[in-house]
Amino acid sequence: MGDRVQGKVAFITGGGSGIGRAAAERLAREGARVALVGLTEDHLEEVEQSIQAAGGEAVSIQADVSNEQDIKEAYDQVLKKWGQIDIVFANAGINGTVGPIETLEFDEWNKTLQTNLSGTFFTVKHAITPMKDSGGSIIITSSINGNRVFTSFGMSAYSTTKAGQVAFMKMAALELARYKIRVNAVCPGAIDTNIDESTNKKPELEEIAIAVEMPPEGEHPLRREPGTAEQVANLVLFLSSDESDHITGSSIYIDGAESLI
Ligand code: NAD
Repeated sequence: MGDRVQGKVAFITGGGSGIGRAAAERLAREGARVALVGLTEDHLEEVEQSIQAAGGEAVSIQADVSNEQDIKEAYDQVLKKWGQIDIVFANAGINGTVGPIETLEFDEWNKTLQTNLSGTFFTVKHAITPMKDSGGSIIITSSINGNRVFTSFGMSAYSTTKAGQVAFMKMAALELARYKIRVNAVCPGAIDTNIDESTNKKPELEEIAIAVEMPPEGEHPLRREPGTAEQVANLVLFLSSDESDHITGSSIYIDGAESLI
């Protein structure tokens, strides 16, 4: 156990798996009390128990990030329990429907936007009132796909949300600087998690996949295999802690230089 975020309270969406889980466990090991916010109660409780078994403090809260009322109530619950919010990790997200734009239904497009983009908006919006007197750090999980889309054919909705999150992060960083609230984005390349379970692949995808020669997924110069959730969690810890107190408005790639090829 360390003390890099000792005494702080962290609100983490998508905390029941993958990058959110790794960040929750990492922050808890460094002294933060962690609220795990997400859709799947079983997963959240498993992470809560793992943090508690390691001597940390955690609470799980079932909430849908695409529902503003759910998020507001989740913050209320944390404030009632711990009285403060210092770190927000707006991380929940889905790949959503993947397929040609021509066949993408509005509902399919909108579900991805509602989860990834509106979910980020609600998570940041309702953090401001509790954070504005004491300051803090907000981290948004974007992706290299917001900027580089070549390896993500059919992910028009997803890539739109990931680019949108970076623009939103910059606006929020400017607007919230006066409250000493820092806002940054982490932009992972391919990370080994269960995100593919949230993918709804349309059959027509094959047509565009064969039309363009794609490099193997996750290939990057530093290593051949994908990154790990723990590597992203290390960056989230740094951005959460006062060690990064001059960093705001930045999007930081964590991709083994995948975005350079
Ligand atoms: P994951 O599927 O393990 O984690 C996503 C989490 O978000 C899950 O726990 C899921 O239950 C939760 N979630 C989904 N919809 C939700 C909703 N409406 N309300 C509340 N929670 C919801 O996958 P991950 O890879 O850890 O994804 C975390 C973030 O990282 C996502 O924003 C994703 O876009 C981003 N990302 C992942 C990769 C990758 O290669 N895995 C790369 C770049 C960015």
